[in-house]
Amino acid sequence: MRLVLLGAPGSGKGTQAARLKDYLHVPHISTGDLLRAEVAAGTPLGLQAKEVMARGDLVSDEILLGMLEDRFSRDDTKAGFILDGYPRNLAQAAALDALLAKLGQKFDAAVQLEVDNEQIIDRLAGRAQAEGRADDSPESVRHRLNVYDQQTAPVIKFYRDHGQLTIVDGVGTLDEVFHRILAAIGQAQTTA
Ligand code: ADP
Repeated sequence: MRLVLLGAPGSGKGTQAARLKDYLHVPHISTGDLLRAEVAAGTPLGLQAKEVMARGDLVSDEILLGMLEDRFSRDDTKAGFILDGYPRNLAQAAALDALLAKLGQKFDAAVQLEVDNEQIIDRLAGRAQAEGRADDSPESVRHRLNVYDQQTAPVIKFYRDHGQLTIVDGVGTLDEVFHRILAAIGQAQTTA
């Protein structure tokens, strides 16, 4: 199963992706996690990305594509993947199509977790307290939501126009949302 998970910051993509990974036995590729690992390791890429991420802006398409190509060169992605945090703009959507075409793959579904803005702001405020992520400050959250509306919303329209979009209601318990996703991708009964 090859999945692209879409949704605003705080929509629950990361949490659901981690569960889907265990259920579907495919790797969870989170571009946010990959970038945070670079920042934590203090690599040149991480140093470049750090300020951009703290502001809530998008790291350059070039860096993202390089990271993704690198990740997709690992054998575990042959079985499938759950992509979380990419694509975030139309150029990245095109780059993903080209990368998958090069690998002779196609994704099965682009799943958008839909959560209204008010809930998103509440959730991110909660996460800021619990996790202390540098980009969960109120200014950065506001900015990330703007970036999402301006740059990532067109990706959703793009997949919708291409008949590749599946929308899932992201409001509910973690279990409820998880089962909605499984139902939406036709995987509700594969394992226990
Ligand atoms: P969230 O979706 O909650 O904002 P992520 O962990 O997905 O969190 O991303 C955190 C930050 O990492 C983003 O605000 C951005 O700066 C950077 N980032 C992640 N994925 C991408 C991407 N595909 N393109 C550009 N920047 C990205």
